[in-house]
Amino acid sequence: MDSSSVSNAQMNDKLSADDDKSNNDMNFTVGEQNAKTIVCLYCDDIILRPKTGKYEQKNILLPRMDMKKTSTSSSSNDNSIPINGNDHLCDSIDYYWLVNDMFTFENVGFSKTVNNNVKYLICSNCERGPIGYCELDPTTGQLDKQFYVAFDRVKYK
Ligand SMILES: [Zn+2]
Repeated sequence: MDSSSVSNAQMNDKLSADDDKSNNDMNFTVGEQNAKTIVCLYCDDIILRPKTGKYEQKNILLPRMDMKKTSTSSSSNDNSIPINGNDHLCDSIDYYWLVNDMFTFENVGFSKTVNNNVKYLICSNCERGPIGYCELDPTTGQLDKQFYVAFDRVKYK
């Protein structure tokens, strides 16, 4: 909800030694780039090439991956947000890969605009998602230059 004022002025990209991190290892530090190729959980389609996203800590409620199915079961969950009139169960996600240019993505799709201020990122091949989100600029209605890919909704190769 807050438009973060993080600037990219600090580009202290020391190319550190290529230490080989294992899959889904949570030992990333904020600002670190993805060492591996980021692919779709379901169809293995490439979403981001290595070193194109930056590790970010940000707490966001992201609708569950099965948002296409109607989940009428439990409405007693606090983690739900209304999306265009319907409540969707959400997961609280703390870690993301931040990408500053849409054209950095190998493949990505966008949901329809939700609540007039956000689009969700989906796999452009199998259309599963959301795998992340992007806010819209409130003045122009255009996509902002900050695309967040949820750390644990993708695979690493
Ligand atoms: Zn996919």
